[in-house]
Amino acid sequence: MNDGGQEVRRDLVVCQICQINLPYDFYGKKAPYCPGVIYFDDTYLLRDPYSPEPRVVAVAGPCDLCSSIACLDCSVFYTKRFCGKCILENSDGFPSQIVVGIKDKLQQVMRHQAET
Ligand SMILES: [Zn+2]
Ligand SMILES: [Zn+2]
Repeated sequence: MNDGGQEVRRDLVVCQICQINLPYDFYGKKAPYCPGVIYFDDTYLLRDPYSPEPRVVAVAGPCDLCSSIACLDCSVFYTKRFCGKCILENSDGFPSQIVVGIKDKLQQVMRHQAET
């Protein structure tokens, strides 16, 4: 991925649930290139490559319960970030909408992993 010679150093963070590799360029509550956006928790952030304005997107974050790194697809931000596995294990503590949503996602992930 070389987009025009601008040197951007990116590291990779691995989602510990779906095993996807995600590039990120900053880990923390706010990225230096976008100080107006402040996250509640330390989050893996990436400067949006498609936006002409400095814009930051969250790509992943550590689960508040088990500290696993989970991508946005595999986690839910509900006062804090929780990974899908912890949400399912503690489903009484979350609204059923969240539980159902993450269950669907995790089933897709598991199916995908079984196929590959
Ligand atoms: Zn994931
Ligand atoms: Zn967890």
